This record gives sequence, structure tokens and C-alpha cells, in this order.
Amino acid sequence: MSFAKARDLLRLAQMAAGRHAGVSLAEIAEEFAVDHRTAQRMARALEDTFPGIEIATGEDRRRRWRLGDAGLGRLQGVGDAELAALEMSLRAARREGREVDAGALERLRDRLLAQMPPSHARRAEADAEILTAMMREDGINGDLEPWDWRYYSEKRRQAEHDLDEAALKPYLSLDAMIAAAFGCANRLFGLEFTPLDLPLYHPDCRAWEVTRDGRHVAVFIGDYFARGSKRSGAWCSSMRGQAKLPQVQGPVVINVCNFAKGDPALLSYDDARTLFHEFGHALHHLLSDVSYESLSGTSVARDFVELPSQLYEHWLEVPEVLERYATHVETGAPMPPEMLDRLLKATTYDMGFQTVEYVASALVDLTFHEGAPPEDLMAAQRDVLDRLGLPHAITMRHASPHFAHVFSGDGYSSGYYSYMWSEVMDADAFAAFEEAGGAFDTAQARALERHILSQGGSSDPAELYTAFRGRLPGVEALLRGRGLAA
Ligand SMILES: [Zn+2]
Repeated sequence: MSFAKARDLLRLAQMAAGRHAGVSLAEIAEEFAVDHRTAQRMARALEDTFPGIEIATGEDRRRRWRLGDAGLGRLQGVGDAELAALEMSLRAARREGREVDAGALERLRDRLLAQMPPSHARRAEADAEILTAMMREDGINGDLEPWDWRYYSEKRRQAEHDLDEAALKPYLSLDAMIAAAFGCANRLFGLEFTPLDLPLYHPDCRAWEVTRDGRHVAVFIGDYFARGSKRSGAWCSSMRGQAKLPQVQGPVVINVCNFAKGDPALLSYDDARTLFHEFGHALHHLLSDVSYESLSGTSVARDFVELPSQLYEHWLEVPEVLERYATHVETGAPMPPEMLDRLLKATTYDMGFQTVEYVASALVDLTFHEGAPPEDLMAAQRDVLDRLGLPHAITMRHASPHFAHVFSGDGYSSGYYSYMWSEVMDADAFAAFEEAGGAFDTAQARALERHILSQGGSSDPAELYTAFRGRLPGVEALLRGRGLAA
């Protein structure tokens, strides 16, 4: 860490710690005489150094960066003496003309972090208190038990976050959401989609020719509606993969979903997310640029294949995308701002519980596959959960004997973690856009295509990711996305 950087971060932390209302990017820009982008980078560096500090960048008030209450308290409570000591060591380093001890800020960060339990467990505990109060209102005494959690959490969700599906759906027509997925791919990668009139295997299917700069890239087929002969779920496959050898061939890619047919067809928000997810897989095929078909598109490791799909879901949550595309199917009016706000907030509901519950299962799975097999599975499970300090009302999602993912086949043994690991990557990858210049930053889109989406399984995923991001993924963006940053 260079001297200037450490010093600037310290000044920034002090500036932030002294304010209750937070510090805007404009104020940083002014204070340090830097441009907006540099201010943004400094804010991000501050956040990386002190993960307790909550920062969001953007124009509107909701996304203005600020100190989270916990971060503020910690910086004020422990901060002053620590920061002064750090300042002294920075001065000493400057006086002696040597590099600043890179560990100094890290040690401070560790000390701050040591003062709080992991943010997700803390969030879950705060939620537990609210749910316990609801339970008391129903005249039930005693502790909140695991079987109470889902019941009261659902009641709370309905009270606080319920979306009127009937009112929401007219804004999420299938055609509008297809246009949104295509529109984002156009802004990010320059792809264009032109309807094709082709004989297809079912009248519900639709096809588009995908072009870029007027050149043929691929054929994309959407088979969106449920019907009796289809298995459930949603998936993406290629009828033909991209290849250059032995001859050049463009991919033919298909997204299959099970949306309810209607005229017009209207989607739930979950459906719209599924559409973006599968289209993210499709992009992995469409933008593939490798020599051999066997390595093209989604021919990658299981914990890497969900990166493009889960990453693409983030664009559905970019407010300007829904503002532009989620228009009322009859009136054409944009989605009312309160509805949009409620929709986006509902996505982080009960994340403390969900994170703790999932991580417990993943860690038990990993522990079981480490070293000698446990003699008593349930005792070993209890042991892991005790060490985690799991709140009383949260248990594993699947107790070991019916943890089907892990014990009914070998596909996921010691691999249950991979769902959230994919989420770590997609959150971190999307943060690259936010840090750079926003969700549609063209340089980041080019890097994503060059290093990941075009590469299929031609290189090790860690190398591909590092080429894109300059480092391996970190967990901070996931915690922010789940509303769990301290
Ligand atoms: Zn997927």
C-alpha cells in the first residue's frame, strides 16, 4: 500500500467518522480535489479496508454512499485512539522516508472486525427478536423455535414486503422482458436480435437471428410456455455449439422455460429473473469464441457455469432497466416508483436467516468430507453447528440423513457450497461494473466478453476470472447484495 493511499484512506475514514449524515461522493471529490471517478474509487477502497462501512454509489438518495450505523458507531467508539495511533505511525514512516507498514490498516481493520459477530448472524439475531415479539402477540411464550421462524417470517414478509402480484404482472409482460434481456445485451455487447421466420419444433417457439455489426453471430430460440410434454424448470441448451475447427460454425442456442401462456403472457418477478438467468447462459454460448465445439459455451466446471447466468440477473435489478422496459402492457405507463422500490427491497428480505441456514449446511458438508469420515453423523453435525454459534431458532436446511444433495449421489459431495460460491462470483463480477462506471460500462463489458463469455472451457476458471477482475473474487459484494454488510 502506498503512503498516499493509506493516508488518504485514513483521512477519509476520519471525515466519515465525524459525520452522522454520511459523506457524498461530491464532498470527497471536493475535499481531495479529484474527479468523480476517483472519488468513487476512494470510497470503494475505504469500504474494502473497513468492511463495516456501507457504501453505495449512484445518483439517487437511496444509493448515495454513507456509513452504516454500525460502522459509524465502531469508528467513533474505538476509532479515535486507533486512528490517532495509525496517523502517528504514518507520520513516522513519512519522516523516515520509508514505505508505510502495509499491515497497519489491516491490523486496525481486524481489531474493528473482532468487535462484532459476523454480520449475517447478527442480522439473523435482530430478525429473531422481531419474530419473537410477533410470537408473543399471539400469546406464545418460550423461545422462538426453528419451526416458528418460517411461519412468522412469512407473516412479516406479507406485512412488510408483500407485492401485489396482480398489480405487478401487467408491467412484466413476456415480450417486455425479452426486450429487456435483448436490450441489455445490445448495450453491453452490441448484439442485435431480428425475428426469424423458421419452421420450429413447436408453434410456441420463436427464433431470432443474432448479429453484430451486421455479421451473423448465432440463432437464438425461445421456447417459453409450459405444456404437458415438457419437464418442469427452465434451462438453456445448444443445438449446435460454436466452433472454428474443423469448420466455422455459429451456435444455435435455446432457452426453455415454463411460463404460463396468456394473451398477452404476463410474468411474475421470479419468472422475469428466470428469463434473465437462462439468457445469461445463452450469452455464454452466443459470445463463445473458441476453436473446438467441445470446449465452447457452457462447457465449464459446475461452480463456474452459473457465473454468466447469475451475473446477468443483476441487470434486471438495475433500476433504469425496469424503468425503461417494465411498462404497463395496456397503457404503456412505466412502473410506479413505489412499486419498483418495494420490488427491489423485497429481494434482500430475510437474508440473515437464509445465509446462516445455507452456510451451516455447506460447512457441515465440507467438514464431513475432510479427513476421516465421522463415526456418528449427527454428533459431528451438532459439533459443527455448535462451533458456528448458530442462533437457537436456525437449523440446517437439510439435516444430514436427508441432505439429498450430498448423500443421494456423488455430484454434490463436498460441493454444496457451490451455489453460494457462484453468488460470490456473480456479485463480485457485477461490482466490477459498478466500480468502473455503472452497470453498462463498456470497458467492463468488453473485458467480461474477452476473458469469460468468449472463453468457454478453454482455460482454468480461476485464470479466466483473474484476467477479468485482476484478482480472485472477494466476499464483500455478496454481503452488500444480501443487505448484510455491517
Ligand atoms: Zn443456471
